[in-house]
Amino acid sequence: MFPGAQTWLEVWEQGQRATPLQRALLILQALTPGASWQELSRLPLGERDARLLAAREALFGPRLEALAHCPACGEHLELSLRVADLRLSQSPSRQILKHGEYRLRLRPLASQDLASALGSADPARTLTLRAIEEASCQGQTLEAAQLPQEVLEAVADRLPETDPQADLELKLSCPACRHAWAAPFDAVAFVWRELNAWALRTLAEVHRLASAYGWREQDILTLSPARRQFYLGMVGP
Ligand SMILES: [Zn+2]
Repeated sequence: MFPGAQTWLEVWEQGQRATPLQRALLILQALTPGASWQELSRLPLGERDARLLAAREALFGPRLEALAHCPACGEHLELSLRVADLRLSQSPSRQILKHGEYRLRLRPLASQDLASALGSADPARTLTLRAIEEASCQGQTLEAAQLPQEVLEAVADRLPETDPQADLELKLSCPACRHAWAAPFDAVAFVWRELNAWALRTLAEVHRLASAYGWREQDILTLSPARRQFYLGMVGP
């Protein structure tokens, strides 16, 4: 069953002092209460983002509005997109990379990899190393950390192919100067911003109804949207 307002307010509350990485996992946990934190941390980032977008669609509908700035002329762009446009058909998958004598198997990165990279001295290198599941040179198995720098660079270049959804970019063009560019889309930041705005709006509505009628928060949150709007209308601005 899709979580109700009560659950989303708890997610929002717990997320106040959380990192974006943790916020994404809090949302996933609300969507799949049976799954452990650890299990969810191992989901490829593209799968994580696809679930966040699906939750967003269920909560706020299929259309979304976003703002962008043209990097060439500074024009403000108002984007109107469908959530479906942001979901790619390619699923995260392992990739074989051959580079000279080297043969590597790469896996898509997950939240746990980001967490470990954030705590390391060289996050980009940590992520690259963690994505390497197997490495060999002329048939001899190697540790990822033994690989030469040029091979690691090839890994970093290839990594987005393991998980295109995690590297989502919007293709934009400016109506004013016709400049075309690709802007990265941060699903976690986007969904959290909307959840935050919804929570503040919802709590303000609870406040108005509780003040006017003396109802409890829980009772107000279980009202259907239509009834809540009706009573808000009765209470007036
Ligand atoms: Zn422009």
